[in-house]
Amino acid sequence: MSERKNYDVIVIGAGPGGLTAALYAARANLKVVILDRGIYGGQMNNTAGIDNYPGFVDIQGPELGEKMYQTAMNAGAEFAYGDVQSIEQDGNKKIVKTDSGEYEAGAVVIATGAVHKHLGVAGEEEYAGKGVSYCAVCDAAFFRDEDVAVIGGGDSAIQEGLYLAQSAKSVTVIHRRDQLRAKAELQQKAFENKKMKFIWNAQTEEIVGDGNKVTAVKYKDKETGEEKEVKVAGVFIYVGIQPQTAVFKDLGITDEQGWILTDNNMRTKVKGIFALGDVRAKELRQIATAVGEGSIAGQEVYNYYQGLNEK
Ligand code: NAP
Repeated sequence: MSERKNYDVIVIGAGPGGLTAALYAARANLKVVILDRGIYGGQMNNTAGIDNYPGFVDIQGPELGEKMYQTAMNAGAEFAYGDVQSIEQDGNKKIVKTDSGEYEAGAVVIATGAVHKHLGVAGEEEYAGKGVSYCAVCDAAFFRDEDVAVIGGGDSAIQEGLYLAQSAKSVTVIHRRDQLRAKAELQQKAFENKKMKFIWNAQTEEIVGDGNKVTAVKYKDKETGEEKEVKVAGVFIYVGIQPQTAVFKDLGITDEQGWILTDNNMRTKVKGIFALGDVRAKELRQIATAVGEGSIAGQEVYNYYQGLNEK
C-alpha cells in the first residue's frame, strides 16, 4: 500500500468554491492538496457562456475553471486525482481515504457540490446517452437541426434550453406548472427566442424510443388528464440537484436531504471539517457564492490552526 500523504488542509472538490478555499489556505502558508475524481472546474466545465461572474463580461465555463485552477496553483496548492471514500478521525487528525491513496491533515474542506437529479420515468435510464442527457454543453452538437425537449422550469432548464436553441431546430420546454421558476432575465430571453416552445402543466410520464434512440416524450396534461406526446430526438433533464454527500453520511453533518449544515464561517459541527458551495444547505447556488464561501473557509482553516497552535 502506498504511503499516507500529509497536508495541513485537504480540500475535496475542485469547483470554484474548492479552488478558492485552496487559494486562501495556500496564501496563508498552509500546505494544501485539492482532491477531485475528475478534472478541476466542477460544474463550470458543463457550462457555456458565464455572464454573471463579476469581472468577466462573457467567459466560457472551462476557461474560467482553468483561470481559477491556475490562481490556486500559483499560490502553492497541489492537485491530485482521487475518488474520496471516507473521512476518518484520529484525535485532531483527519484521514481521507480515496480509491488511489490516503491523505492526512488537521483540516478538511468539503466542496463536492451537487449533481442533476434524475426524473425517474420509464425510458430515462434505457435511453441515457441515446437521446437522454443531463448536459447540454456536452451533447448539443448531437442534435443540430433536430427537435429537442427540456424538462424542468428552473434556471438550469432555461439556461441550457437557450444554449440548445443555438443549434437545435426547436427546443420544447416541458414544465409541470404554468409558470417558470427560472430568474426573470432568463425567462425573458426564453420567451423572446423563436425556437423555444413551452408545454405547461405537463407531467412527463415516459421517454419513448425505437430501441436505439429517443423518438418522443409522453406526458399527461394535468388540466385535462389527457395523455399526449411530443416528437423529439433528444431530451435534456433539469429537474433539480442533489448534494454529493453519500460518503460523508456517518459524520452526522448533513440534514435529512443530505445537504451539509454549517455556520456562517463554513464550520460544520465536527471540529476541523468545513464545507462550502453547492453542497451546503442554503438558498443561492452560484459561482459567485461558492467563491465567496471558499474565501471564508480558506481563512477559517487558518484561524483554526492559529487556535490549535495557541493550546
Ligand atoms: P431547481 O431550481 O430546483 O429547478 C428544478 C425545476 O425542475 C423546477 O422548475 C421544478 O418544478 C422542476 N421539477 C422538479 N422535480 C420535477 C419532477 N419530478 N418532474 C418535473 N419537473 C420537476 O434546479 P436547477 O434549475 O437545476 O437549479 C439548481 C440551483 O442552481 C438553483 O439554485 C439555481 O438558481 C442555480 N442555477 C443558477 C444558474 C444561473 O444563475 N445562471 C444556472 C443554473 C442553476 P417546480 O418549479 O414546479 O418546482
